[in-house]
Amino acid sequence: MKAERENLVERLFNQGYIRTKNVKKAMLKIPREKFMPPENSSYAYLDRPFPIGNGQTISAPHMVAIIAEKLELQEGMNILEIGTGWGYNAAVVGEIVGKKGHVYTIERITALAEKARDNLKKTGYSDVVTVIEGDGTTGYPDKAPFDRIYGTASAPKIPEPLKEQLKIGGKLIIPMGSDYFQELVSVQRIADDDYQTINLGGVVFVPMIGRHGWPED
Ligand code: SAM
Repeated sequence: MKAERENLVERLFNQGYIRTKNVKKAMLKIPREKFMPPENSSYAYLDRPFPIGNGQTISAPHMVAIIAEKLELQEGMNILEIGTGWGYNAAVVGEIVGKKGHVYTIERITALAEKARDNLKKTGYSDVVTVIEGDGTTGYPDKAPFDRIYGTASAPKIPEPLKEQLKIGGKLIIPMGSDYFQELVSVQRIADDDYQTINLGGVVFVPMIGRHGWPED
């Protein structure tokens, strides 16, 4: 699997999704196959999403790379992820911020949160990544403010609590839009009440369901 991982990372680099050493190193290190159900793990190095149960998916590697690059991650950062899934993206980000930093990741589906905890433990990331079960649209005030916040599910609009839980100078990346098509949006907090929003382009994500997201059916 290591050779396949190296091939994929090389392709993502040549395609311009991976740009920096720290993202490349993390994606070379994290075994994506360990964050997928066994029936699909032999396809772990295809650049596409796969089902992880409960109607959810593990994100495609190029999307993980895009978000990691756009976040401009650095060692020691305090990070919040909304939408843990089986924990792959959180492990990649955890590898970059290292033990001086931390990733808090929120998952609303119990079975997925439990699986992610188990995967992160087995791969050696449970001291850098903490999985919280709940509605991530309200953020995680206990550990705020955050240097970076990112969502791996899409919201109808940017959840206000996430903006409020950003440090000044901090950045939030989240897919936003309708059921069928969304745009990846980057929000930088310039000052207390000053946010700069940039559209990073079209994406397709599963819905972010919660108080400041989509209603549950
Ligand atoms: N980060 C994952 C990975 O590494 O592949 C991708 C997860 S999947 C694309 C999005 C996840 O967001 C799903 O597991 C879904 O249950 C979760 N989700 C949706 N709404 C949420 C919310 N309000 N709070 C927390 N998790 C949520």
